[in-house]
Amino acid sequence: MGLHSLFYRLVSEFVGKSRAFIKIQEGCDFRCSYCIIPHVRGDARSYDMKLILEQISTLTQNGFGEFILTGTNIGSYGKKDKNTSLAKLLKEIFKLKGVRRVRLGSVEPVQIDDEFKELLSEPQMAKHLHIALQHTSKEMLRIMNRRNKVLDDLELFEYIASKGYAIGTDYIVGHPGESDILWSEAMENLHRFPLTHVHAFTYSKRDGTPSAQMKDIVRGDKAKIRYNELISIIEEKNINFRKNTNEPLSILIEQQKDGFYIGYDQFYNMIEVKSDTDLVGDWVEIKDYEILRGNNVAKF
Ligand code: SF4
Repeated sequence: MGLHSLFYRLVSEFVGKSRAFIKIQEGCDFRCSYCIIPHVRGDARSYDMKLILEQISTLTQNGFGEFILTGTNIGSYGKKDKNTSLAKLLKEIFKLKGVRRVRLGSVEPVQIDDEFKELLSEPQMAKHLHIALQHTSKEMLRIMNRRNKVLDDLELFEYIASKGYAIGTDYIVGHPGESDILWSEAMENLHRFPLTHVHAFTYSKRDGTPSAQMKDIVRGDKAKIRYNELISIIEEKNINFRKNTNEPLSILIEQQKDGFYIGYDQFYNMIEVKSDTDLVGDWVEIKDYEILRGNNVAKF
């Protein structure tokens, strides 16, 4: 593939003229038992760092300030095939002029090493990480063939939260084997996690995966009840996080909708801003705002 076509492949999406999604790798070496992705997209392979940096640099010259690094398993970036790492890539990205904020797609808990932790205080890091737990029961993580472990995860999350971060996660509800006992253990553990966001999914069978062969299936209506329980716990945690935030919100306004300018702050919380000025594509700093159940609201 020529350099030119790869350039366009890496930028998977633009949002307005201010944020760009940059694909840094594809594929995954993990083998979670429910997941078809490695079978479809293959093992992890990373794009060349030089190419990624060139692309981001070109975009900054065209007014882009926020970059979202994406891939199938971005925490594996460079480790196997390029003798580098996500942390090293981030360090180079932060050196580029015009890079105002970098967000990361989903990272696996076991990939957050000391080198990465050192970057948590970098000003261009969005104060929000999305770390895929998938579950908070020790036994369920084993059944799901996950590499993370609940107690290590909890320690990691507490450390990251202590640095002022909001933390989101992926969570699968209703995977085979999720008994009432394991679910209540998982929810007890979940209460202890400093989480602010969740992408929750009810389990859906993928033919060809080990989970598809498993017994002890959780009924759909039960999974739905568990899903709602999970969502309401995280909603409560999110609102508490927003109430306890004591720094100004740094917001990139993405769009105008129903009379409000809508954007996300450094913690990846949505805000609706009322203004007489066209703010789309602008960065605004807001100190006074109202905290509603679902999001923040302000005048600017
Ligand atoms: S769930 Fe994520 S980490 Fe696990 S196999 Fe699928 S892509 Fe890889």
